[in-house]
Amino acid sequence: MPPLPKPVFCKLLGHTWQCHVEDPKIVWTASKNMCELEQTASEEPRFFQRCVRCGEERPWEAKGA
Ligand SMILES: [Zn+2]
Repeated sequence: MPPLPKPVFCKLLGHTWQCHVEDPKIVWTASKNMCELEQTASEEPRFFQRCVRCGEERPWEAKGA
């Protein structure tokens, strides 16, 4: 995925965050609960949010836009 130019929208309106879970060993689905995930994963999955426009990332726990 090529790097995206930083859109002016992010400066004017703020980033549009989308939640992601990144784990190469398991497939995260909405139907799975945390217990099933913990039983099958050998490493902690990475929780983060990514802006859909510019691709900037931030921790899942961050608040606000
Ligand atoms: Zn952005």
